[in-house]
Parts: sequence; C-alpha cells; structure tokens
Amino acid sequence: MIRLAVVSGKGGTGKTMVTAGLAALSRCLQILADCDVEAANLELLLSARGGYTSPFEGMETAVIDPEKCWGCGRCAELCRFGAITVGNDGVAVCEPRDCEGCGLCERVCPNGGVSLIPRISGAVLWSSTEYGPLSHARLNPGSGNSGLLVQTVKRQVENRAGTAELLLIDGPPGTGCPLISTVSGTDAVLVVTEPSLSGLHDLRRVVGVCRRFGPRVLALINRWDLDPEISAKIEEECAALGVSVIGRIPFDPAVIEAVRAGRPVTGTDSSAARALAGCWETLKGELALSCDRERRSPS
Ligand code: SF4
Ligand code: SF4
Repeated sequence: MIRLAVVSGKGGTGKTMVTAGLAALSRCLQILADCDVEAANLELLLSARGGYTSPFEGMETAVIDPEKCWGCGRCAELCRFGAITVGNDGVAVCEPRDCEGCGLCERVCPNGGVSLIPRISGAVLWSSTEYGPLSHARLNPGSGNSGLLVQTVKRQVENRAGTAELLLIDGPPGTGCPLISTVSGTDAVLVVTEPSLSGLHDLRRVVGVCRRFGPRVLALINRWDLDPEISAKIEEECAALGVSVIGRIPFDPAVIEAVRAGRPVTGTDSSAARALAGCWETLKGELALSCDRERRSPS
C-alpha cells in the first residue's frame, strides 16, 4: 500500500480541497484518513456517513481525594498552571480545564491525596464515503495531545486497510507535532502551497521537516495565477530543494461553489477540476500507481 499525505506549511492553501479531489479522481482500492484533527473537515467534502465512534483518552487529569487532603497547599503552590486551589474548608480542588496532566501534584502530595485519571479528549470515528472508508476524529475544544490523536487515527486506518492499494491522508497545516505524527511512516508527502511570501516561507519549513522522516516530497501550487511571479519563485525553490512540482491549479470560483455545496470540485466542469485531474495523472506516474478499478473500498 502506498501511503500518501497531503499537507501544507500554512493554513488556507486549499489542502483539503486537493485531498478530496484526489480521492474522487483515484480509481485505486483506497482508504482515507483525516489527520488534520484540530480542524477535521474532509468528512464534509466527502459527505461521510457516520459509523463507528470510540472515545479518545488524551491527557490525564488530577483528582484530589478530600478524605486524604489535609490542606497543606503544596500542590497548589507548585502547579504552574494554577489548576489547584485550596478552599475555605481546607481541602484542595483541581479544575480539570486548567490541568495539563503533568503529575507533579501527585508526586508532591505528602498524603497520597492526588490521583491522575484518564480524560476523554475527543472521539475517533470510522465513516463511509463514496470514495472509500474514512478514519477521522474530533478533538474536544481546549484538549491537547493532537499528535497522539493523529497516531490513533492512523492506527485505526492501518488496522482496517485490508487489501488497499492507497492510503490517502489529509494532513495538518504547520510543522508541529500533528505534522510529524502524520508524515512518519508515509511513502510520499504532497505539499500544497500558494503564491504568497508566507506560502514560500512555510513551504521551505514543511519540506525541511518532512525530509527528516524519509518520504518522497512533492508539491502542488494552488491558485497559482494570483501571483505568477511568486509561483515561478516557488517552482525555482522546489527545483533547488529537489521537490517535484506535480502541477498548478488556477484560482477558480468553481472551487468556492463546490466547497459551499460540500462536494469535491472534480465533479464540476471547471478549469480547477481539469488542472487537478492533470495533477492526479502526474502523481500516479510519480508514485507508480497503476490502479484503475471501479471498486474503491478495500475488503
Ligand atoms: S498536597 Fe496533598 S494534602 Fe496538600 S493540599 Fe494538595 S492534595 Fe491536599
Ligand atoms: S497534574 Fe500538573 S497541571 Fe494538573 S493539577 Fe497537577 S500539577 Fe497542576
């Protein structure tokens, strides 16, 4: 199975639109994953139908046993997140929203009054789409451990991959922990960028991070005609970095209409759809993907 992640150095480049379009164009026996867990929305463009849901336990949280707390205040004094207060009744209380689960209070309590318990930080979902099954997630507001959640989404999809030929991943923007979790173990990464100075800057950063994990790195320039000069600079930069540019997609209002309608742009008669189809053909060649099937869900 070829594992391909679509990522971007910054948000707003059209990464999910590209992923949804590739999913719709592909005739591979494929399986999908949305690893952009902090803003998961591939399900919207692919009209995912809900299936199996399981809770995600991310960070732990501290719980204080009032029977064992003698109100010394040591935990409250040392918690750098200000999550613990000692009430007028002389008993300490932890506010879960402020607790980062570091465990220091448990270590310093002289009377064993603090325990750490798992906290439900979101949910992992397994849904069906017209283009193959989708592993995705929801992270509760304010919850951390998004890198761990990405790993959970990936583990679910690997366990259910069956005879799939292609794993297509919608990755996160940026270069943080979720990106690293997403690209580790992939065969190829497609960086979607746009012609702006920040797009060029963030392209360099994301290529640098991805390269450390070994996958082949490719690039695609979205809305290239908004600034042909910077698009040309991006292509020069990619050539210098040894990154193949698989194509350019023009600015096209059809993309906005498709996103509004919640469907891939590839279903429209538009210049963006035609350009994306050309990108997919080039990508197939780059990845030596020869699949051309009618059935897209693995057994
Ligand atoms: S350190 Fe232990 S005993 Fe002291 S206030 Fe905190 S929970 Fe209570
Ligand atoms: S686990 Fe860490 S963050 Fe949470 S209350 Fe204890 S010291 Fe504070």
